[in-house]
Amino acid sequence: MSGKKRLIDENGLRVDGRRWNELRPLKIEVGILSNVDGSARIIQGKTHILVGVYGPRESFAKHVSLPDRSVVRCRYRMAPFSVEERKSPAPSRREIELSKVIREALEPAILVEEFPRTIIDIFIEVLEADGGTRCASITAASVALADAGIPMKDLVAACAVGKADGKLIVDLSDMEDKYGEADVPVAIMPNKNIITLLQMDGTLTSDEFNALLQLAMKGCKRIHEVQRKALKDGFGEIKNLVLEE
Ligand code: UDP
Repeated sequence: MSGKKRLIDENGLRVDGRRWNELRPLKIEVGILSNVDGSARIIQGKTHILVGVYGPRESFAKHVSLPDRSVVRCRYRMAPFSVEERKSPAPSRREIELSKVIREALEPAILVEEFPRTIIDIFIEVLEADGGTRCASITAASVALADAGIPMKDLVAACAVGKADGKLIVDLSDMEDKYGEADVPVAIMPNKNIITLLQMDGTLTSDEFNALLQLAMKGCKRIHEVQRKALKDGFGEIKNLVLEE
């Protein structure tokens, strides 16, 4: 056995040349699809995702709707060509789980009680995946919901943090996700400082976990600036990728 893959070199640089506290280049476009009520495209490093939103629209299937609120549905899907090893087009367990996880991260921000007996549909198409697709999906979907004119308490911004070669890092790529020691996807409502998603895979001390949570909050807040710019101008891009220490 040759041992573990090295993810951080002697200069403290990650496999793609980033520092521990550096986000991947991020671009968000809004209103790019004509056949939906709201849409967004996110490109975060090599991760590339399209989101289309319909609603709130009246539900004809009465067993689906609720008398006191809108029902939010979410479908996360990875294209067969989105990953190196062709993914089967059939829905996987992971896609079904991520659809639920993403819906639950977005729902607290949506004023669902304003639209009883309606449905809000979120369709997420991952075109290219290089780690962090659940976070990028949440970031883009919340922008697409706002683009659809759906009233919200706040946007939801998401960012993964984790640990590789014993160092805490932000915005993990696929390789860091696979070979690192921990992966912690986080989503927040940035103005309200409410966490709507917090998962963890791997092992961390409680100090490391607390430091990572702070790092994730900083990452989400920087991503939130791009979301706001994208909603205002149709396009947002990150300029300063390094988060302050
Ligand atoms: N991935 C893959 N094939 C799959 C599913 C995932 O290559 O069938 C890769 C993809 O790059 C994805 C990464 O594994 O972004 C990490 O997946 P995870 O389940 O941790 O979710 P994510 O980090 O994308 O939210």
